[in-house]
Amino acid sequence: MTNQSFMNETQETSRRYFTRPRVCQFCTDKSIKIDYKQVEVLRRFVTEEGKIRPRRQSGVCAKHQRELAKAVKRARHIALLPFSGEILR
Ligand SMILES: [Zn+2]
Repeated sequence: MTNQSFMNETQETSRRYFTRPRVCQFCTDKSIKIDYKQVEVLRRFVTEEGKIRPRRQSGVCAKHQRELAKAVKRARHIALLPFSGEILR
């Protein structure tokens, strides 16, 4: 039981280590385009499992999160990005 709570604590710390941008990257930098062909850009917003990162983690605003989700789904469709869980198999 004590071990378990220690594990949880270390997880919390590693989560805090994540650099979390407060402002939306797409609003700040107008040169970044959300496009399904720009896999390098999209990769930053999906987890290793291919899931779209939650907004609180990526810091993307609602408007751009929508755009992003659309682009990711499109990219998945033409096999530029994996569907979630595909790598784990
Ligand atoms: Zn934005």
